[in-house]
Amino acid sequence: MHDEPEVAVLRLGHRPGRDERMTTHVGLTARALGADRVWIPDNAGQSLETVRDITDRFGGPFTAELTDSPKGIIRDWEGRVVHLTMYGERVQDVEAEVKRAHGDDDEPILIVVGAEKVSFDVYEEADWNVGVTNQPHSEVAGLAVFLDRLFEGRELEREWDDADQRVIPMETGKRVEPADEE
Ligand code: SAM
Repeated sequence: MHDEPEVAVLRLGHRPGRDERMTTHVGLTARALGADRVWIPDNAGQSLETVRDITDRFGGPFTAELTDSPKGIIRDWEGRVVHLTMYGERVQDVEAEVKRAHGDDDEPILIVVGAEKVSFDVYEEADWNVGVTNQPHSEVAGLAVFLDRLFEGRELEREWDDADQRVIPMETGKRVEPADEE
């Protein structure tokens, strides 16, 4: 988020057909909940298009890119790596340490989420393997909870630049206006 060290999300693995919506939702959730960028596997081009289209319409800044070398992104990351996994340490036990690295030590954070079985080298490469509960669920849910814990709710207040349209919050009904109208 603005004025904070970068937070990036890496989607590791994508099974064409089966994972289309999940990969798209990893990107949309990363954007909506305060991450600065997402890397998506290069066999998920449609997900990339959707995330970029939403960013064009509803604003940024947010960077979405394809990668043909997700493991290379992890290896080359100049900061700390959080791998979200049901087998990891409990988020409530490690969040303070991650926030210290990000907030006090100005370390960029790379958050890795899987699709299918994640190979063991990722567990070894990560600075933290983090479970959002130790129950099996979804990369989208895990990412959402982790980002909200990392940003302590600041992401809910964020402003969006260069949006074409914005939603006016309403008790009932749907209202969307051109972004430059008051
Ligand atoms: N069974 C696979 C494995 O052994 O690695 C994981 C498949 S799961 C459907 C896909 C991704 O969701 C995981 O790689 C992980 O990033 C995320 N995930 C699922 N449950 C999680 C949990 N309890 N905490 C954090 N992340 C979780």
